Formats: sequence, C-alpha cells, structure tokens
Amino acid sequence: MNLEEADCAVDVVIVGAGPVGLMCACLAQLCGLRTVVLDQSDGPLQVGRADALNARSLQLLEIVGLFKELYPLGKTCNTSSVWAAGQFISRQSSWWDELEGCEHKHFLMLGQSYLEKLLDAKLRETGAGVRRHATVTDIELVEDSSDGPDGMEGSDGDAGCITRLSCGESIRSKYVIGADGSRSFVRQHFEVPFEIVRPQLVWAVVDGVIDSDFPKVPEIIVFQSETSDVAWVPREGDLDRFYVRMDTKEFTLDQAIEKINRAMQPHTLRFKDIVWFSQFSVKESVAEHFSVQNRIFLAGDACHIHSVNGGQGLNTGLGDAFNLMWKLNGVINFGLPPEFLRSYEEERKPVALSVVGTSGELVRSTQDSQAGTHAQDYVEIVRKRAGNITGMGIRYGESGLRGTRLHDFEIHEGTSKTRIYSLLNYTQFTLLVFSGAGDRGDLANGAELKAALGLPEFIRVVQISADNSRGGYWAENSPYLNQAVLVRPDSYIESVTPLHEMESIS
Ligand SMILES: Cc1cc2nc3c(=O)[nH]c(=O)nc-3n(C[C@H](O)[C@H](O)[C@H](O)COP(=O)(O)OP(=O)(O)OC[C@H]3O[C@@H](n4cnc5c(N)ncnc54)[C@H](O)[C@@H]3O)c2cc1C
Repeated sequence: MNLEEADCAVDVVIVGAGPVGLMCACLAQLCGLRTVVLDQSDGPLQVGRADALNARSLQLLEIVGLFKELYPLGKTCNTSSVWAAGQFISRQSSWWDELEGCEHKHFLMLGQSYLEKLLDAKLRETGAGVRRHATVTDIELVEDSSDGPDGMEGSDGDAGCITRLSCGESIRSKYVIGADGSRSFVRQHFEVPFEIVRPQLVWAVVDGVIDSDFPKVPEIIVFQSETSDVAWVPREGDLDRFYVRMDTKEFTLDQAIEKINRAMQPHTLRFKDIVWFSQFSVKESVAEHFSVQNRIFLAGDACHIHSVNGGQGLNTGLGDAFNLMWKLNGVINFGLPPEFLRSYEEERKPVALSVVGTSGELVRSTQDSQAGTHAQDYVEIVRKRAGNITGMGIRYGESGLRGTRLHDFEIHEGTSKTRIYSLLNYTQFTLLVFSGAGDRGDLANGAELKAALGLPEFIRVVQISADNSRGGYWAENSPYLNQAVLVRPDSYIESVTPLHEMESIS
C-alpha cells in the first residue's frame, strides 16, 4: 500500500492504552501532536496490577498537571519494616528521608487503574479518546522513495508507517509507538529479540479488605517465616495488598491466605472482601532494541519485563513515555534531526537493564539467603538499589550534572511560594537563569534574555534572582546559584553554564 491510500493520517499511532500508551498520548496532546491510540480492550483497567507511583513519577506527573488529581486518591508510604516469628525486627526509611531536591519523599500507594482512568478521561476530554476494540494486525514501514537528503533514514520525506487493524482500516503515521504490553505485537512483528529468563518463582497477589489483630500501619512489611515469602503493601482507601511466594502454579486463594497467616503468626488475618486475586510467574527481559529504523518505538512492558519487586514496572514505563514524547515533539514540531530519536534507546535501555537487575536481586533474595535472614537481606537490597526504586537515581550520562534530574526546591514569586518544578513545561526546554545579586541585572525578564541570547523557539527562559529586590521569581537557597541551567522537557539537566559564560548558550 502507498501512504496516500491509508484511511487517515496522524503524526503518531500508539498501539496499546495501558498506562504507558495512555501517558504517551496525553503528552502528545500537550505537545500538539496528532495521535491515534488503539487498544483491543473495551476500557481502562478496573482493578489490580501495579500498586505504587514512585517519587520520580510524582515529579513527572506534577510537570504535566496530573499530580493534583491523583495525589489525594492514594496513601503515602516511605517505610519498610521486617517481622519474623511474630517479632518486630527492623524499620527503615533512610533512602527516602535522604533524598535531596524532592518534595514528595515517598511512594504514592495507588492502583494502576486510577492512573489509567484519569488519563483515559483526559484524552476523551481533548477529543483524542482511545479507539477501543481496535486490534492491530499489521504495521508496514514505508521507505522514502526520493533521493537526496529526504532519503535519509527517519527523515520526513514520504516515508512513514501504515498500521492495519483487524477491521480492515489502515492508518498512516510518521511514527508508531508499541506500548502494547509484555506480549507486544509490535515487538514480535518487527522481530525484535526479547529473550526471556524465567527464574521459576511464582507469586500470588491478593488485593482486599482485611480484618486482622496485626496493627494496620502505612508501611510495607516483609514477613520472614520459612523464607521471606509474604509482603504486606498498604493501598488506597481501605484496601491492602499481599504478595505471597507460592513456588507452584497450582494453588488456590485459600492456600495463599493460609500462607499469609503462617507468616504473621501469632497474629491472624482474614479477608472481608477480595477485590483482585492473581498469580504471576517471574519473567525477565529487556528488548534488544527499543526502536526500529527510528520509526517504530517500544515503550513500557513491550520492551522490559521483570518481577514486581520494587514496584518498578509502571514507573519505568512512565519514564519511557516522558523520555520519548518530547523527542518526537522536537523532531515533528521543531525540526530537530530524526537521528536525535536514537537517544531514546541509548538512554532508556540502560535504565531498563538496571531495573531488571534490581527487581531480579530482590525477588531472588526472597528464596535464597546465605545467613537465613531473607527479610533483612531484602530491605538491605532496597536500600542499596534505592535509586531505581525511588526513581530518583536514574540519570542519563556518567558524570557531572548533565543528565541528572533537576532538583526541586522552594522559590518565591513576590511574596507567594511555589517550587521550581511548577515552572517547567513539558512542551519546551526551560533555561533557568539563577542570578546572584546584581548579575545580569541589565536584562529585566526572560523574554529579553531569550532575545539577547538568540535562543530557538523551543527554549523558554525563566530568571530566578537570589533575593526579592528585582521582583519576579527568587530563591534563597538555590543549588544552582550564578548558573544557567538548561532543563529538558522531562526535567533532566541538558547543560549547566556559569553565568559569566552565558553568551555561549545556544
Ligand atoms: C497480570 C499482571 C499483574 C501485574 N501485577 C503487578 C503488580 O502487582 N505490581 C506492579 O508494580 N506491577 C504489576 N504488573 C506490571 C504493570 O501492570 C505493568 O508494568 C504495566 O501495566 C505496564 O504498562 P504498559 O502500558 O506498558 O502495558 P499494559 O498495561 O500491559 O498495556 C498494554 C495494552 O496494549 C493493548 N494491546 C496489546 N496488544 C494489542 C494489539 N495488537 N492491538 C491493540 N491493543 C493491544 C492491551 O489491551 C493493553 O491495554 C502486572 C502486570 C500484569 C500483566
């Protein structure tokens, strides 16, 4: 088929309306990209699956205005404790308490369905709702037939993609995102290698309303019984979740509840209501490529799967979405070279590999412990791998400030207080100019500074003074004083330049 013959044309086709596809679509809407989101299901998830948003996800949600609606729905949790044989062993939260440049130093315990329903509704409000009962059966990459510069891989020319649905319809797009989950059709269609490791660990997950003589606390509790095979996770509302290692695929709900009770002895627990009961066999894999010819991109479970330990699946997928969509925006709307899109795989694949390492170490420790101290070992791994689990240790690049997350901190506008993350905007780069008293005082505002520096359209400039003497934004304790910090749309630092060298920023 020729691209002109397709039934409709958009910038990006997104296959899959799980949390990752939905987030890609919402970010695309913010950026003014034309998208179609296709999902074979009849609606967003109602119960179960992922249970926590980490601190980095909360920051990202804040940038795009989703935080305020989600935050009150969940429960905050930043403590893990260990119990063994009915005795309290230890309680830890240091990896959260010690986080710098972070307002919300905790997980937000909230079921995946809340995020999905919110994103799904936002898309409907913008008139870009998910097309449901839409199964993708074929994707064709159409090469650019012209010579010259347009013939380059990934250039706009007349190259693109044609996505076909089971109903016979076809959609033409510049790019396709495969956010279609662990059994990704898109990944398999393009034969992207995805070798799966199966460590033979099987878990039950039970969500429900409980009745127990064990005090209910907002902590993740790991119970050490024979090994460390039961974890109690607080959830939104009156829900609680239990992960129970079963080591066999043949088990009943009653057997899982029996195991919970064995681990909690001498305390007892019963479920007044079961909301979700599922089992998962741990599988681990990272796709060999996250993109195909710089046209097709994989995101979320489509390119990385691992055990749920550490609560990283959904959070890593959201990180993929935030990394990818501003880059597509840059190429489609701001003329960045298509080759720039390669940085998506370069940045996200190492993150996925480290996340799989973290969850793999955690889940194996529930079974194997040299000293027989499984539960303590588990919490020690959480401490050691906290950068992944909080999401705040993820960085792009090896050293220096480049590629690190921008720290969040309090700033003022006149007499009112806000925080630096409230100034960021996902659709653009932000150049934050932190002037000391008297520095660049000749330039009254960001717009003048932007003009003076000849910055491109996709960079906005915000000036932040060291005191309130000049009006506008000011911060008393900026870690970036006398520096200009160029911040990417996903709030990672692109560059830092001392103010006296500022003419060289462009
Ligand atoms: C059974 C299960 C239990 C889980 N439990 C936990 C847990 O306890 N804790 C935790 O942290 N994480 C858990 N996870 C992981 C977490 O849910 C995932 O990391 C998260 O859902 C990834 O989101 P995603 O958008 O990448 O993929 P998904 O949520 O899987 O969404 C993919 C979407 O693509 C659609 N789709 C697939 N193929 C096609 C096609 N050909 N055409 C159109 N649409 C298609 C599907 O209908 C689906 O809506 C669980 C996952 C599963 C599957």
